[in-house]
Amino acid sequence: MRLFIIALILLVVVERHDAFRAARPLLRRTCLSSGSTSNSEARTPLTQAPSTSSTMTVVEATAEEDEDEKLYGHLYQKKVPIGSAPQFAIAGDSTEETPYQRGVVFLHFALTLANLVHARYSITSVMDILPLALTIMASIVLGDLGTGIFHWSVDNYGGIKTPVFGSVCVAFQGHHDTPWTITFRSFCNNVFKIAYGTIPPLLLLLLAGPTVVSPLARIFATLFINWWLISQEFHKYSHMRSTPPLAKKLQEMGIILSKKEHGLHHTSPFEGHYCILTGVCNPLLDKTHFFRHLERFFFAITGNTPNTWKADPKLREVGKLF
Ligand SMILES: [Zn+2]
Ligand SMILES: [Zn+2]
Repeated sequence: MRLFIIALILLVVVERHDAFRAARPLLRRTCLSSGSTSNSEARTPLTQAPSTSSTMTVVEATAEEDEDEKLYGHLYQKKVPIGSAPQFAIAGDSTEETPYQRGVVFLHFALTLANLVHARYSITSVMDILPLALTIMASIVLGDLGTGIFHWSVDNYGGIKTPVFGSVCVAFQGHHDTPWTITFRSFCNNVFKIAYGTIPPLLLLLLAGPTVVSPLARIFATLFINWWLISQEFHKYSHMRSTPPLAKKLQEMGIILSKKEHGLHHTSPFEGHYCILTGVCNPLLDKTHFFRHLERFFFAITGNTPNTWKADPKLREVGKLF
């Protein structure tokens, strides 16, 4: 509980630091408007205009993708200098923070705090500290894994019409083309869409009584859900050229996602390094081809082709056991 409050205060301090205002984008190399043979040409975002050189063929395009293209295709024809201004994958999106966004994020943290208070975990001896410490550590490691699975899912599947996370799918897929845009966002503007996914489970958790959820299980679940939202802010820090000093220190210490680790994700076909909380799970997931197995599993069940396979068809065979 105290650790969470300290983490929250640290986040606010980092956010309010002057250096944040002066922050500028780190990654500037992928954009269709650059006219280069960029990563985005190899990938096949749902919003991308038809490309004659793309490995994705028009044959694979669906009616829904055509409609998406009509809505967002204009973004790829703009001649905007790379990184000098935010570019949006969703019509009507903005970097302006609104009272609505603040309200959504406030609700997330209010429910997080209420759950931690509701856990009523009391430390009466030194022996009570170890289970709490292990629970927090487990929430961070598994939270990192959770962000990887979430990031992989919205990078590879879905579009604007996907329930709840439609705008997140488009935003994550568009992020590969204009990675600097995230650095122009304030905290609430950056994370409020993730709160659409965190608020319902936090609310359900709060409604579940102590006989249903034990104190440590409640602390674990609350932190696990909370890291999901926080990871989007760490993701932003990993793209900043001038990172706030405290965030930079935490990156260098390996406590939060580093620029180097996340930079490895931003290469076509965007098939690895999906975890964005600390990145600690990435080596194991990538070495074991975890996401290739997951893609084959979902392809077998649903017939949906992930964007990574469209960008590099060889990926569908990677790590195949039989
Ligand atoms: Zn991505
Ligand atoms: Zn990124």
